[in-house]
Amino acid sequence: AKEIQQILDDKPIVSEKQLQLWQWIASYYMCTLGDVMRAALPSAFILESETVVSKNNLKNIDESILKDDEFLVFEALHHQSSLKIHDISNILDKKNVFPVIKRLIEKEAISVEEEVYEKYKPKLVRYVKLHAHFSSEKALQELLNDLSRAPKQREVIMTLFSVSATTKKPVKVKDLVNVSGASSSIIKALIGKNILEEYHIQTDRVQYSGDENEATKNLNEYQKTALSEIKTAFETYHTTLLHGVTSSGKTEVYVKLIEDTIKEDKQVLYLLPEIALTTQLVSRLQNYFGEQVAVFHSKYSVHERVEVWNNVLHKSPKAKIVLGARSSIFLPFNNLGLIIVDEEHEQSFKQFDPAPRYHARDTAIVLAHMHSAKTLLGSATPSLESYFNAKQNKYGLVEITKRYNDVLMPDIELVDIKDKLKKKCMKGHFSDRLIEDMTETLKVGHQIILFQNRRGFSPIIECKTCGHSPQCPNCDVSLTYHQYRNQLRCHYCGYNSAMMQDCVACGSQDLDNKGFGTEQIEEEVKLLFPDYKVARMDLDTTRGKYGYEKIITALEQRDIDILVGTQMLTKGLDFRNVKLVGIMNADNMLNFPDFRAHERSFQLMLQVSGRAGRTEERGKVLIQTYNPHHNILQQVSTNSYMDMFNEQMNDRYNFKYPPVFKQIKITLKHKDYSRVETASIWYAKSLRQLFKDYVLGPESPPIARIRNQFHKNILVKIPKQQSLPKTKEAIIKINNSFQSIKDFRSVKVILNVDNF
Ligand code: ADP
Ligand code: ZN
Ligand code: ZN
Repeated sequence: AKEIQQILDDKPIVSEKQLQLWQWIASYYMCTLGDVMRAALPSAFILESETVVSKNNLKNIDESILKDDEFLVFEALHHQSSLKIHDISNILDKKNVFPVIKRLIEKEAISVEEEVYEKYKPKLVRYVKLHAHFSSEKALQELLNDLSRAPKQREVIMTLFSVSATTKKPVKVKDLVNVSGASSSIIKALIGKNILEEYHIQTDRVQYSGDENEATKNLNEYQKTALSEIKTAFETYHTTLLHGVTSSGKTEVYVKLIEDTIKEDKQVLYLLPEIALTTQLVSRLQNYFGEQVAVFHSKYSVHERVEVWNNVLHKSPKAKIVLGARSSIFLPFNNLGLIIVDEEHEQSFKQFDPAPRYHARDTAIVLAHMHSAKTLLGSATPSLESYFNAKQNKYGLVEITKRYNDVLMPDIELVDIKDKLKKKCMKGHFSDRLIEDMTETLKVGHQIILFQNRRGFSPIIECKTCGHSPQCPNCDVSLTYHQYRNQLRCHYCGYNSAMMQDCVACGSQDLDNKGFGTEQIEEEVKLLFPDYKVARMDLDTTRGKYGYEKIITALEQRDIDILVGTQMLTKGLDFRNVKLVGIMNADNMLNFPDFRAHERSFQLMLQVSGRAGRTEERGKVLIQTYNPHHNILQQVSTNSYMDMFNEQMNDRYNFKYPPVFKQIKITLKHKDYSRVETASIWYAKSLRQLFKDYVLGPESPPIARIRNQFHKNILVKIPKQQSLPKTKEAIIKINNSFQSIKDFRSVKVILNVDNF
């Protein structure tokens, strides 16, 4: 034990309930409490609680020169040994306390080291707006005409409009630079010409500046029924699943529940997959609830996250509703009434690396329990886990089977690629059927989404002479060709090298592209439809805080006719003008080696399809496949969730997979193959002594080496009637004996519960 140097906080900044939840996470997901804390506490929080002024800073002065607020702080220092930002805020009952500290320093009432002051000083944030003399329609038109000779400047003005229209907030110079792609010198020029006006707001964040809040929408009959069914279900169940087809208006139902909850002065947590946290949804909620909505997002700065943390902790009216990605389950709620988990089937609610490897949906349910709050899970394609729980009567179940406004579900058609190839009706990866429908759609001015679930130009380069394909030196995978940079890249470790001219194995120049990704589809579309604007949305094009937003805005404003993209396209976006969705190849997702591959393919395809025809006119979806008779494809094309559920559940029973069995995966890693092999055999043998046939492996995963580490997996299946805590205890015991064996000490062990 070490000496206590200083007591940082008078009151705990972490509540008992939080600790209780974190302990649950550590024990359920088999990690340390420290792992959980590292994920939970924003690091700057520690900063916030640091002392800024202490008694030592006090000087002897004539108090009469102090203004009231200055005096309050000065006097407080005589009674308390030190003050933190938070304390000073409380004393003065305002947030921005820096001007007061500054004045106290200037009057030499206190002294604070330069760096301490600098550290806490809020940064000035630069904003721009259009100069007031362009407020009339006419003046604006003239300005835009004038600027036609300066297209870059014109572009900046246009971007300014679109950003402020979508976010309904003042526009930061930084954001304008990011979204428009213009250099800051162009913005400077516009300010110099008195077209743009620069101003500063000296708070750490801009407040929501919307007009009066919009009234929430009136629900239609289906929504009303769903709402009252949910309320009834909540009388019996802690958790209820809302299964509503895409565009059935689930969000509006959530909104009514949120309204009720905040009326009772309780907090609401609205969980979404990271990527679905778009400005679209944020502004939709802000229109209804204004400043009461706080957003918690990993792309936000630590300071922004600390602000949300404090607002939640102090039950501030500014955080009655927290809209956040998975890590928002760690916030210090103290009065939670409702948790909504939207798109609950989404894989990204699960954290894979580093520990805690928790599932935010499942943790949210536990969190709600602790607060006697309710959880609503929502999805158009629920996970088998949640639907199974509903069927088992553990959750309530409410369904909406109709789209809002009687919009029809899209017409889904399967296109047989094998047949098309035989009849020579394929151009590259496009069937004549798809080209035909695309032509029709574009002709009437509608937009198209093409879905391809691989990024890169062509995943694999293969030598036609010797069959060699270039491999990553650190991982057991082939490198992916990225045409944009003319590079070969590893998607696992980021290794990259220039594309070679000849085969490294035999010197042949006959190199072939195998497989295809978003980049290649984009290339082909551009050739097929040269007169239309094509864009691509995948991990490569959406890096950075604004990459994703830029593409969404462009699509909304019809600056894109055809959007090619990956998984990212599936997330709850609402594009009114998209009438055709093409799924380029259904087979590579169906054939993925994972017991959830069929369930996931069903979810993905229905979610992408849901982007088509969200207004009166019926949307169209074309799915290209080598295997049109595949059950999953039949179920997708007839929108038969129940058929999918029953068939998949049958497999899960037969092969003892979740949700029928629980499972824990143990991964061992080492740079030396024989060491990891011996270690994993020892581990599996010890497990088998206890769990017999329910242990599988050790096995090398399909990609056996990543970042120069060899992997071995062992799977433990746990029947529902077997105690999960006892099983975990036993595994931990084995793990401890394992760690105490000298030869195995350098082997890394990763425990993963439920989803992986
Ligand atoms: P889901 O979340 O189920 O996919 P949304 O909540 O996004 O569906 O609703 C689909 C569309 O229908 C949205 O554009 C939404 O604004 C509109 N909508 C839904 N319910 C109503 C309502 N009660 N009144 C007016 N518009 C509605
Ligand atoms: Zn070769
Ligand atoms: Zn690699």
